[in-house]
Amino acid sequence: GDSLKRRKIAVLGSRSVGKSSLVKQFIENHFVDAYYPTIESTFAKTVTYKGVEYDCHIIDTAGQDEYSPVNAQHAIGIHGYVLVYSITSRTSFDMIQIIYDKIVDFCGLTDIPCVIVGSKSDLHQNRQVQSKEGQALGQKNGAAWIETSAKNNVNVGKVFELCLAEIERRTAPNQAE
Ligand code: GDP
Repeated sequence: GDSLKRRKIAVLGSRSVGKSSLVKQFIENHFVDAYYPTIESTFAKTVTYKGVEYDCHIIDTAGQDEYSPVNAQHAIGIHGYVLVYSITSRTSFDMIQIIYDKIVDFCGLTDIPCVIVGSKSDLHQNRQVQSKEGQALGQKNGAAWIETSAKNNVNVGKVFELCLAEIERRTAPNQAE
């Protein structure tokens, strides 16, 4: 039988917070300084987490603002979410709760498997969002939270491990293969 568990993960957040860089560092192990706006792309990677192999499909989105409706593609069939803000942008941090609430509303749920990511942690001299604010936002929404640097490859793999953990925490054994 096929023992690979398929997990679809959507990466959402404001434009230019580093969503593509995070996904690229995770999938291809490199960082690009230039900014190429993404339309939308899906990447696949097999991840072994706690001895289980997961066939992860990661959807890198163009970026959302307060006027973006939740696209069905960002809700239907998605197992987990990575919501990214930049620690250098208060506006991008404020977008996280807006996006979270829209997904929850769209899905008709109270709670979704989610990791909130404070990106660009290497740019500490330009920090606008304190770590404890990120942590508090995670706690408020029952989500995991972590700060990362795609540039320095800090905590990048951890994001996707946390996301799988959040998904599995809500999945009963022998369900949702
Ligand atoms: P997206 O629009 O959210 O996908 O953002 P990108 O991944 O394209 O990144 C936007 C810009 O931020 C690019 O110029 C990246 O090089 C830069 N960037 C992304 N991640 C980091 C990071 O961890 N540290 C630093 N210093 N810059 C980053």
